[in-house]
Amino acid sequence: MKASHTHRQHGGRYALVSESTGAGPLEGQALVVYHDLDRDVQSVTTLDDWQQHWRAIDADDCSICLGTGTDQIKGNRSNPCGGCFGLGKVRSDGETPADRWEVADIALGLIRRQQQELVQRRQAMAMPEVREAIQAARERGQTDTIARQESEWRNSPGHGPGGQRYTGD
Ligand SMILES: [Zn+2]
Repeated sequence: MKASHTHRQHGGRYALVSESTGAGPLEGQALVVYHDLDRDVQSVTTLDDWQQHWRAIDADDCSICLGTGTDQIKGNRSNPCGGCFGLGKVRSDGETPADRWEVADIALGLIRRQQQELVQRRQAMAMPEVREAIQAARERGQTDTIARQESEWRNSPGHGPGGQRYTGD
């Protein structure tokens, strides 16, 4: 079986076996059956969990590190992967770059993709609606923090009804 997915945080090789709808206690739940190729076990999870924690392996993801760019063979995450020179990506045909020009080509492709993403995000951030939403979320976060601190203070010993330093009367 060929790996189609990898875990976003932990890496590893996984193959999507099937998607189905649960029965019995899982009635109506969208489920995913997957095969962990490294441990050779089959498991099932919800579609939400699957989409959140796994991602599809692209054709140009390095087949050794599966796109992480770090050394998976010796397990030293501070070392770059030898298959892709730490880029995580290889040539679009899935082959390891043969010389420095090919490495440069792959790096340039990565930079271009990120630049595109950055431009899109800047455009989104420039929209007044988005700025307002972010501002509102920040203010809400501050209000929540103040409310939490206040309730912690009230519930701490020595405050509030029954507390020794209660000066309400
Ligand atoms: Zn690699």
